[in-house]
Amino acid sequence: MPAFQNSPGMRDILPPDSARWRTLNNVFADVVETAGYGQIITPLIEDVGVFTRIGEATDVVTKELYAFEDRGGRHVSLRPELTASVCRAFAQHRPVAPWKVWYSGPNFRQEKAQRGRYRQFDQVGVEVLGVDDANLDVEVIALAWEFYLRLGLSQVTLILNSLGDPEDRARYVEALRKHFEASELTDQSRETLENNPLRVLDSKREFDAPAITSAPQIAEFYSPGASRHFEAVVAGLTRLGIPFDVEPKLVRGLDYYRSTIFEFQGGTLASAQNALGGGGRYDGLVEALGGPATPGIGFALGVDRTLLACNDEGVFAPAPRRLDAFVVDVAGGFEAVSITGELRAAGLAADRGFENRSMKAQMKLANRSGAAFALIVGDDQLATDTVVAKPMQGGGDQQTIARSDLISHLKDELRRLQ
Ligand code: AMP
Repeated sequence: MPAFQNSPGMRDILPPDSARWRTLNNVFADVVETAGYGQIITPLIEDVGVFTRIGEATDVVTKELYAFEDRGGRHVSLRPELTASVCRAFAQHRPVAPWKVWYSGPNFRQEKAQRGRYRQFDQVGVEVLGVDDANLDVEVIALAWEFYLRLGLSQVTLILNSLGDPEDRARYVEALRKHFEASELTDQSRETLENNPLRVLDSKREFDAPAITSAPQIAEFYSPGASRHFEAVVAGLTRLGIPFDVEPKLVRGLDYYRSTIFEFQGGTLASAQNALGGGGRYDGLVEALGGPATPGIGFALGVDRTLLACNDEGVFAPAPRRLDAFVVDVAGGFEAVSITGELRAAGLAADRGFENRSMKAQMKLANRSGAAFALIVGDDQLATDTVVAKPMQGGGDQQTIARSDLISHLKDELRRLQ
């Protein structure tokens, strides 16, 4: 056993798996940049106040923050999500609205680790600040949908709800409180009720089920404007042919949501890891962080869970980049310095053996590397300024090539192999 291992809930992503992570990020960047979103990179650490504004009644804030005092006595925290940081950046830099940004990166929550639930986990997401238009809600949801399609996932479901305007939501919360106070609930749900009656709807405990089934529904509380907005979102998604279910009990974890909210669920994951991602409209977050009142909408998709869903569906297995050549230098190892340099400068992927190991040992490495060609240099080749090119994948004879022709020869051969 080594002296140290990664902390609970923290993982190493090793090659070749890491290539899949990067490709996923690239696919996401491609989807959202095509729609005019620019990348934002925010710090991993913020003033803890940025995150407590998310909502005093959410577990993310009350139980899971990695908050600490830095050496300057500042109260800071590792970020548990990115929406608050994006809103802080908007309030700070005051960019021209509408501001469409995307992000990717790790977040930190002190949760109980299990499959699909980690203490450091990655998300990709978008936020749009400064636009209150149902057509934007449709655009944002459609981008996440397109991303899943591009990965090859076909069993993702979209569930949709509206929490109405803030006043509608407030009236609904009061009605829920009254209803649940008069109902039979588990002790855990009673505790949730104290802080956040909406979250009682999330309970999966059987004993709570009758109270939840008979609870008032949010739609009864919509103002005419909130109804119109939601109808327009439904119409837009229908027009795009994106399937969805309206789920009146969907409330989402964080306090700042209002109006349109949505979640993507995997078709194959066990229910604890079922939520692949989600988002919605939020109000007041930019304002709470010192900026002007600004409407916002966004989503965050869990990278870890998305990849688990890809595993379960048997899709998105991008091959890591293959080497074009592996240089086997058994003439001292110095020739391979310039050969790999030339190859790489010409845009070819090349690796080499080190430590002047035997021909057999280096050929084994060449084999394992998956390179298309082994380029062998021994004393004979050194004397004649040549290289032996041995095809490693599929047939073909090895050939002796003049050093000066190496790049063009290799490029021709690689083109033939394609
Ligand atoms: P949230 O920011 O809580 O709305 O989460 C958005 C998405 O991030 C979820 O649907 C999950 O896919 C993912 N996620 C949230 N928390 C975790 C975690 N602890 N481990 C892995 N993924 C997570």
